[in-house]
Amino acid sequence: MFATCRRTSGQGIYKGVKTAAPFRMPLPRQLAQRVGKVPVRVRLSRRARRLALKIDAVGDAVELVLPPRTPLPRALNFLNSNREWVEDRLAALPPRVTFAEGEKVPILGVPHRIRRVARSRDHGPVWLADGEIRVTGEAVHLARRVRDFLKERAREEFGRRARRLSLRLDRQVGRISVRDTTTRWGSCSANGNMAFSWRLVMAPEPVLNYVVAHEVAHLVEMNHGARFWRLVDKLVPDVERHRDWLNENRAWLLRIG
Ligand SMILES: [Zn+2]
Repeated sequence: MFATCRRTSGQGIYKGVKTAAPFRMPLPRQLAQRVGKVPVRVRLSRRARRLALKIDAVGDAVELVLPPRTPLPRALNFLNSNREWVEDRLAALPPRVTFAEGEKVPILGVPHRIRRVARSRDHGPVWLADGEIRVTGEAVHLARRVRDFLKERAREEFGRRARRLSLRLDRQVGRISVRDTTTRWGSCSANGNMAFSWRLVMAPEPVLNYVVAHEVAHLVEMNHGARFWRLVDKLVPDVERHRDWLNENRAWLLRIG
């Protein structure tokens, strides 16, 4: 979930000091910023070629990625010289929306207001009616009930769409599960099982369709080559637009609930 908020050091690998060196001079665990204390997570990465800062939209934190053999003073310098960037990016994150009475939560892109109501013989603990998510039971359970409801709804929506689209490719979908992932919206394993982020159920329907089509196309092509994208295009229109939407709204989706 970091792709849109990333800053790198502009310089290549520094080959002076061994990887073990960084911990002699500790890096700060948090930055005291105008927006408050910002947690700093340090990650040593063997694959990274540059120092990088990534904004964590879930934890309102910043991650400092260290390539091998980065001298500590240089890492510290990089962190300090980008404090303003960190502050700006954190301030630009969309506001958090909690699952609480009166809050509006989108379902397939359509806003629904959360409302606590009395139990009803005609429904389970949570149901949709007149643009509302109606939730029964004590207030303390409300957030969990809304979340469980959305996850279940998400699983149904993904399953139905995946089965329908896979028929068009003459393939069969395995088990469908939902997760709360932060780095990928969906995945497809070699045996046809698929996993999706339940948060996609809040995205507009065409976006959700695109992510399902993407994973379904992996039933045929286990890669992101030209043939793969041609398949996705065959299954759903406007792929580029939906990918843009996901990139632009990633932080927003991650900060609901
Ligand atoms: Zn893929």
